[in-house]
Amino acid sequence: MARPLELAARLAWYIVSNKLRGRKRFPLVTMLEPLEKCNLACEGCGRIREYEPVLDRMLSVEDCIEAVEDSGAPIVSIAGGEPTLHPQIHEIVNRIVERKRFVYMCTNALLMERVMKKIPPTKYFCFVVHLDGMEEAHDRSVYRKGVFRIATRAIRAALDSGHRVTTNTTVFNGVDEDDVIEMFKMVTGMGVEGAMVSPGYQFEMIPNQDLFISRENARKVFENVLDPKHGIRFYNNPLYLDFLRGEREYQCAAWSNPTYTVMGWREPCYLLGDRHTSRFDDLMSEELWERYGVGKDPRCANCMMHCGFESASIFGALSSPKDAFRMVKEGAVRNSGVGAG
Ligand code: SF4
Ligand code: SF4
Repeated sequence: MARPLELAARLAWYIVSNKLRGRKRFPLVTMLEPLEKCNLACEGCGRIREYEPVLDRMLSVEDCIEAVEDSGAPIVSIAGGEPTLHPQIHEIVNRIVERKRFVYMCTNALLMERVMKKIPPTKYFCFVVHLDGMEEAHDRSVYRKGVFRIATRAIRAALDSGHRVTTNTTVFNGVDEDDVIEMFKMVTGMGVEGAMVSPGYQFEMIPNQDLFISRENARKVFENVLDPKHGIRFYNNPLYLDFLRGEREYQCAAWSNPTYTVMGWREPCYLLGDRHTSRFDDLMSEELWERYGVGKDPRCANCMMHCGFESASIFGALSSPKDAFRMVKEGAVRNSGVGAG
């Protein structure tokens, strides 16, 4: 199943209608985390460390639907933790799909084949499979042998059964560029809709801080990895890919990707959880965004994550007919920062 045209049309109409209503900030993607527990323990994962005291908590199906409705965004990205560990994950997905929201579910794929049987293939649902490299590099990254084989088998099974599939890759310091290019070529050849890519965010609670890549080094890596000569099909929009290569600058627009967790809405963003709140409107406040973003908070200095900057590239295109035309020409509004990790 190919990327649905309805997604681009609905997203474009949603943005225009919100702008016409005079809304300065509004969500494009609801990031929904039904639980924070995982069946892996990757070295670069902030979630399993930050939420350690509440790893036993889960959102109910109704909590999830309420968060999706509170936000109102046309796209929902389900992450965590590992969402497939939630015993009712299929119900959560199917109920959101009934509302005609476009749902992307990030997964390490260990339980994907089991879960996919309970989610009928539809244009409104897409698996996003975490892959950080070819077999050796990926298994090292997730700290367990055999995960790459399970993930690639699950991708094949999902594609064969008519599901939409993309992949999501986090780039860390010292990444083997040839290896990651080989992996992107492999998944392009397998027929996934595209590969999402983003540099890892420097979570303060992770012991090995050498893991994280600076903006300057990330741009050098992306100049090579994103080179069109490799023939890779990326899912991220072309303006965000330019940003990763250092060809344009944006200020973060992370208010467009609000994140709901077992503790409430994260404030300010998917990456920084300085506070949790039950009031969705808190995340859109002027006062909040005077304090966060590049040049405002030192923790934002190296951030290039899609949850802050991919949607910024979409909003930037609204004031540039040339950029807007390029987004439409090169695959429409492909992505708004749905990948997690
Ligand atoms: S990065 Fe993803 S797969 Fe790895 S421990 Fe965190 S939630 Fe689990
Ligand atoms: S730049 Fe934006 S997305 Fe990144 S950490 Fe800061 S507020 Fe969050």
